[in-house]
Amino acid sequence: MSGHRLQDALETLKSTRVRMTPQRHAILEFLFESMTHPTADDIYKALEGRFPNMSVATVYNNLRVFKEAGIVRELTYGDSSSRFDSVTSDHYHVICNECGKIVDFHYPGLDEVETLAEHVTGFKVLNHRMEINGICPDCQTKAKQH
Ligand SMILES: [Zn+2]
Ligand SMILES: [Zn+2]
Repeated sequence: MSGHRLQDALETLKSTRVRMTPQRHAILEFLFESMTHPTADDIYKALEGRFPNMSVATVYNNLRVFKEAGIVRELTYGDSSSRFDSVTSDHYHVICNECGKIVDFHYPGLDEVETLAEHVTGFKVLNHRMEINGICPDCQTKAKQH
């Protein structure tokens, strides 16, 4: 499944004339296979063994290129570093308060919220983000063992 989406992303990049390099390919592959919403730093750590000349800044710049091409989404969290999502269709996130893991889940889009927000505030609404916080199954198990 992830192989299919990766292939689509590669096609999209080709059509936007983004030059494919081994580094870019590896970053994309990691993003699409891990499904963990990694930070640029996570990706850097996972790939530095294969690309000794790569820096976190390089990873970040590549992610920006992917974002502009519309194949990844950036999730910003205030002052902490951004996480990157290879699923660009609408979905919601549940976040573990203990380990910070982000898991996707699907729920009918809450379009009414946008309409209402537009109505009440006069904003031109572009999108919305809903996040559920909790403790993931792994962390629940860990807590029980202590
Ligand atoms: Zn957790
Ligand atoms: Zn996601």
